[in-house]
Amino acid sequence: MPALILDGTRIAQEIRSEVAAEVKAMTAAGVRPGLAVVLVGHNPASEIYVRGKVKACEEVGVYSEQFTPSESATTAELLALIEGLNRRDEIDGILVQLPLPAQVDAKKVLLAVDPAKDVDGFHPMNVGFLSTQRPGLVPCTPAGIIEILQRSGIPIAGQEAVVVGRSDIVGKPVAMLLTNANATVTICHSKTRDLAGVCRRADILVAAIGRAGMITRDFMKPGATVIDVGMNTVTGLAEFRRFFAGNARREEMFAKKGTTLVGDVHPEVAEIAGAITPVPGGVGPLTIAMLMFNTAKAAKMRRGNRVAELSRA
Ligand code: NDP
Repeated sequence: MPALILDGTRIAQEIRSEVAAEVKAMTAAGVRPGLAVVLVGHNPASEIYVRGKVKACEEVGVYSEQFTPSESATTAELLALIEGLNRRDEIDGILVQLPLPAQVDAKKVLLAVDPAKDVDGFHPMNVGFLSTQRPGLVPCTPAGIIEILQRSGIPIAGQEAVVVGRSDIVGKPVAMLLTNANATVTICHSKTRDLAGVCRRADILVAAIGRAGMITRDFMKPGATVIDVGMNTVTGLAEFRRFFAGNARREEMFAKKGTTLVGDVHPEVAEIAGAITPVPGGVGPLTIAMLMFNTAKAAKMRRGNRVAELSRA
């Protein structure tokens, strides 16, 4: 039986509608959530991501401001910008689009963001809150993965979950969220022995690797749920055919654009998985939806009871 396709676009839209309703109520009560987006230089991929984030703000009613320091910006200049945003009351969330230019000390810049406004959830204080199960801001992509599982009715508690990838942005936080949701979690990485064997234990397999189609059917327990975080651009025809030979829709798209997006999971896995996120249209759309969610959450957390009091007034 073919896998159930977990439609991230639909789930993300559902979350965006919920956030929009909440933002409307908050705005009516005099507290409009605001997001500052900092985009340094001219990285074309970053520019596309930032456009998507600003557009999402408009759609859900979040106030947004964009800052575009030049490619030659120094660490000191960015720290001054962040400090200014930390002080502005109408700014609830600060997002520094990564990667930053090589001359900038990215860790120092991210550490300067007020943890209460850290809508990416990367600040060590929010990392600590997550690992100790305290209220805080959770990284967007991992939070989105949990939303996909929960809103699709896929049980997490008691399940064997295997996460391939241990980055601070995806692998580690998603493993922590799954642990907090009572899964039994194994984290794998490039030094893991018998990766396929470990993955075959998984009821829930999360691939956050950055290698096109690396997870093949050999890594699968039949019927498992697969979350494919990878976003890899394929441009070569031979590589394209390795994944999509015989897929007329993909072939047409590839002929038109000369490029296509492939996850870390080989498309053949859909034949034996129980449920799977597609690429594109799986995890990707959740990242921006959860950024909107986090901005509204930051606004509520920063203002404490004031929002509740204003809503009652
Ligand atoms: P990183 O490069 O930071 O981390 C990759 C991880 O994969 C590392 O832990 C690395 O291990 C592990 N890895 C690499 N090769 C292998 C291998 N052969 N076997 C086992 N493990 C391996 O990537 P990110 O976590 O930032 O991103 C992962 C993917 O997710 C990328 O494709 C990225 O584009 C995508 N992504 C998608 C998002 C979305 O919104 N959909 C958001 C963020 C990322 P080690 O630590 O040992 O080096």
